Amino acid sequence: MTATPFLDVLEDLIAGVVEPSAADVDANGTFPRAAVTALGEAGLLGLLSSTEVGGHGGTLDDAAQVVRRLAASCASTAMVVCMHYCATSAIEQFGPIEIRRAIASGHHLSTLAFSETGSRSQFWAPMGTAVIDNDDVVLNAHKSWVTSAGEADSYVWTSRPASGTPGATLWLVPADAQGVKVAAPFDGLGLRGNASSPVLGTDVRLPASSGLGDDGAGLDIALGVVLPVFQILNASCSLGLTDAAIAKVIGHVTSARFEHLDQTLADQPVTRQHVAHMKNQADAAATLVADAIVALTTGRSDAPLRMLQSKAVAGETALEVLDRAMRVGGGAAFRKDIGIERHFRDARASAVMAPTIDALQEFIGRALCGMPLFG
Ligand SMILES: Cc1cc2nc3c(=O)[nH]c(=O)nc-3n(C[C@H](O)[C@H](O)[C@H](O)COP(=O)(O)OP(=O)(O)OC[C@H]3O[C@@H](n4cnc5c(N)ncnc54)[C@H](O)[C@@H]3O)c2cc1C
Repeated sequence: MTATPFLDVLEDLIAGVVEPSAADVDANGTFPRAAVTALGEAGLLGLLSSTEVGGHGGTLDDAAQVVRRLAASCASTAMVVCMHYCATSAIEQFGPIEIRRAIASGHHLSTLAFSETGSRSQFWAPMGTAVIDNDDVVLNAHKSWVTSAGEADSYVWTSRPASGTPGATLWLVPADAQGVKVAAPFDGLGLRGNASSPVLGTDVRLPASSGLGDDGAGLDIALGVVLPVFQILNASCSLGLTDAAIAKVIGHVTSARFEHLDQTLADQPVTRQHVAHMKNQADAAATLVADAIVALTTGRSDAPLRMLQSKAVAGETALEVLDRAMRVGGGAAFRKDIGIERHFRDARASAVMAPTIDALQEFIGRALCGMPLFG
């Protein structure tokens, strides 16, 4: 896939569908269904699907560009797409051909159902169970957060291994399977259109062949296949939010006037210092994320470190840049006049999405000190 066509398609779609509904998605907590449908029809939900099943065979860098650009307009839509691409990475390698084709054709939205009420942000320790019953498996779990809950067509779902060994197993759970229930509507501070609700699985009976990979191989797949995609795309969402903040701050400070002085806000040196600081921080984070993508796609030896750093650095940067944007934007930002406040709220999510920034800092510190990540 060449860069220009899919980004051109995306720009048209953002201008025509995503941007016009972004404020409403936020204000009313509405799932961005029109945007998701349009992304599917434009082939962008199949961006990471292989050409063999009718997808675009796009790269991690392609996906990062899509998520970053979407996040600058509507971060709820960007996170829905981020989670869909994460799920696609597992389904592409281990899922059934008909679901892979449906994703490639833009008719199937998926997501991750990893986090659980019992193990909270430590998704690598699922407490949900899988019991083999002849040719079936029976799943029980209390998933605490699932983006696109009740909106996606399937969930990439973790459980303890059916064999009783330590670790995890991944399953592809159809959203309409009997026993799958969205527990409550989502009402969050940010990413309000995300439908990130708890999902209960009660005696969900599926063919035992619904496993993604072998029983007990789920942790290796979650950490080795899904996590790099999640880290880069979640970081890209944070970068998109800084793009939006910087553009809106510059638009405001260069136009808001002190009439009694015949000056703009940008004529104030302190304001310019803040703008420079925001841009320096955002570009430093973007450079690190770009390097992480190169490291991952070329198999560089520092790829695991860069992968861990990407979400921590971009997420922390988005918090700081958006905080500064609120300050530089003054009362106009506080009162929603210039549209920065939505991005400020949306940027809060990355820090608590697992692996949380705190967990990532712990992993990075352990890696640097030559210690195992989990101790
Ligand atoms: C908008 C949104 C969308 C989401 N979408 C999905 C999804 O699609 N799929 C999915 O599986 N999950 C999803 N999640 C869940 C997310 O990945 C986390 O699991 C969830 O946010 C953790 O919340 P918690 O209250 O359970 O965190 P807790 O585990 O209670 O953590 C609370 C705080 O304590 C810190 N903490 C935890 N352990 C330690 C420790 N040992 N030392 C120091 N600090 C620690 C954490 O870093 C965090 O800051 C989503 C979350 C959000 C906010």
